[in-house]
Amino acid sequence: MGELIDTAARGCLSKMAISPGKTGEAADYALCLDETRLPLNARLGQPLRLSWTGAIACTNCGRATKKSFAQGHCYPCFKRLASCDTCIMKPETCHFFAGTCREPEWGERHCFQPHVVYLANSSGLKVGITRRTQVPTRWLDQGAIQALPIIEVDTRQQSGFVEMLFKEEVSDRTNWRAMLKGDVESMDLVAERDRLLAKLEGGLSGLRERFGADAIRVLDDAPRHLDYPVLEFPRKIVSHNFDKVAEVEGTLMGLKGQYLILDTGVINLRKFTGYEIQVA
Ligand SMILES: [Zn+2]
Repeated sequence: MGELIDTAARGCLSKMAISPGKTGEAADYALCLDETRLPLNARLGQPLRLSWTGAIACTNCGRATKKSFAQGHCYPCFKRLASCDTCIMKPETCHFFAGTCREPEWGERHCFQPHVVYLANSSGLKVGITRRTQVPTRWLDQGAIQALPIIEVDTRQQSGFVEMLFKEEVSDRTNWRAMLKGDVESMDLVAERDRLLAKLEGGLSGLRERFGADAIRVLDDAPRHLDYPVLEFPRKIVSHNFDKVAEVEGTLMGLKGQYLILDTGVINLRKFTGYEIQVA
């Protein structure tokens, strides 16, 4: 049986599959290697070893690549795919409207659908955007302990403009060290939402004039609490990196965001998407 599991636990990494726990329960994690999903919560407190074989396969075309671009792509795919273009990170610079979208059909499917602007608490207050369908995955991937959708729009570009506005008042970044140390105070996201909506009223009116009165819709959602399976948070953050040391080994102490927390250090698995890994 042991042999069977070992064979199954070799493959190319994709980001961990995280599902929200039921109320009061921690999120459920699985390590994803090709088609194999290894449940991780049950391995908390146990030794875990991940070894990189030295191979990287492009998550789009499957070709071998020496280096990974934009989280698991070969260079040609990185230059060709709309999902790897700069406007994904900066939606307000959407190429579709300029007629320069790399893949207009993909853009129509991906960017012309409801997006939400949310407030989250990952290492303090932050603003972010995501497709409606990516809630709550996006928050779990970021290690947010609280999140609240505040505005809904019809396109990714519009969500970019709303986020730009909120960035005048709130960061869009997570301090991942603070997030992993677990020293994040709970906050009143509803009060923060109301404060920001009042403060940014002028800017929001401007966007409504530009995109239509119904384009920028304020939501009245309830805040979401998210819990993570962590036995013990690290006091000091040391990072593992397959590019420097191919063997990552330690006792699994926790899972938060896309990080494994081992007693020997932490590792952001998303950074190593496409890396061929042997797990033991
Ligand atoms: Zn490729």
